[in-house]
Amino acid sequence: GREIRLKSRPHGEPTPDNFETVTVSVPEPAEGQVLVRNHFMSVDPYMRGRMNDAKSYVPPFKLGEALDGGSVGQVLRSRSPDFKEGDFVVGGTGGWRDYAVAPAKHYQKADPSVGPLSAYLGVLGMPGMTAYVGLLDLGKPKAGDTVFVSAAAGAVGGVVGQIARIQGCRVVGSVGSEAKVKHLRDDLKFDAALDYKTTPIAESLAKACPEGIDVYFDNVGGDHLEAAIGLMKNHGRIVLCGAISVYNATAPTPGPRNLFLAVGKRLTLQGFIVGDHAARRADFLRDMGQWLREGKVQDVATVVDGLDKAPDAFIGLLRGDNTGKMLVRLAKD
Ligand code: NDP
Repeated sequence: GREIRLKSRPHGEPTPDNFETVTVSVPEPAEGQVLVRNHFMSVDPYMRGRMNDAKSYVPPFKLGEALDGGSVGQVLRSRSPDFKEGDFVVGGTGGWRDYAVAPAKHYQKADPSVGPLSAYLGVLGMPGMTAYVGLLDLGKPKAGDTVFVSAAAGAVGGVVGQIARIQGCRVVGSVGSEAKVKHLRDDLKFDAALDYKTTPIAESLAKACPEGIDVYFDNVGGDHLEAAIGLMKNHGRIVLCGAISVYNATAPTPGPRNLFLAVGKRLTLQGFIVGDHAARRADFLRDMGQWLREGKVQDVATVVDGLDKAPDAFIGLLRGDNTGKMLVRLAKD
């Protein structure tokens, strides 16, 4: 098997020479562990933060060691009563390699009758759960509310918009290309879609939300957050999910210049990390499984083939190459 290691820490935008692919022998699982053949691995924005040598809610990747992250695959050998050979599983630590050995407790069963295996890294997985918990539990949208979501054609953003529609909200999204604008309107049925690269977001957002915003689901930070604060209604909720516009920054970036408006508007700005909300996983799988079956939520992904292409997929994710969840396919059966 092969694994991908962090060769050097990126300064600003990552480049292919920050990574190296190494052939390794397939390890034997110890007591309590499973050996999994990966079918798909995930590349995620949070991995950029882990490439810096900085303290955060997840420890940094170590230089010269394999990266890790989400993956789905099939159990080849099990030394745990929780799984048997042939089970399909999803986990958060077995990525960036062909074969993973990990404690069984790092994995959960992936039921192929609910959705395709790849969906367990997207709508049925961590990004879908992030959208579900962030929007419903923190954003608390009501029917008729205007919900704005940034990075709206991405893994989290696309699901946020689709759940907001199910709640009866008016949904506005921002994206970085004309093709993504079309995708939001035609495929995901957003009420309005804005291209932040052709018109400054403050300008287009003001036009799209003449009566203001009730809930802003922030994946981007920076000018998007400032524009949303300016347009929030009184008692509006801002869900701080991510700030991808600053992940490659090499120095601290300024905050929103209009933050003082949060006082008079009585806004709630709340950050969250999906991993703290595991208690909602059963509700999430029940609701999302039903929405997928009913066709109310679509499973959208951009798939790149081959482990050796994983660094390119990751670099491309930060640049916006993906529509839906960015995935790397490692095995075809
Ligand atoms: P996406 O699938 O949304 O991919 C990232 C997208 O960000 C790109 O496709 C690109 O789309 C957009 N983007 C890149 N640079 C910029 C920029 N400067 N300004 C605006 N948009 C930009 O990734 P995820 O859905 O996995 O993650 C979305 C956000 O959610 C991230 O901020 C991530 O860190 C966060 N997150 C937080 C979690 C939590 O627990 N709090 C859990 C999971 C994710 P475009 O072409 O539109 O620019």
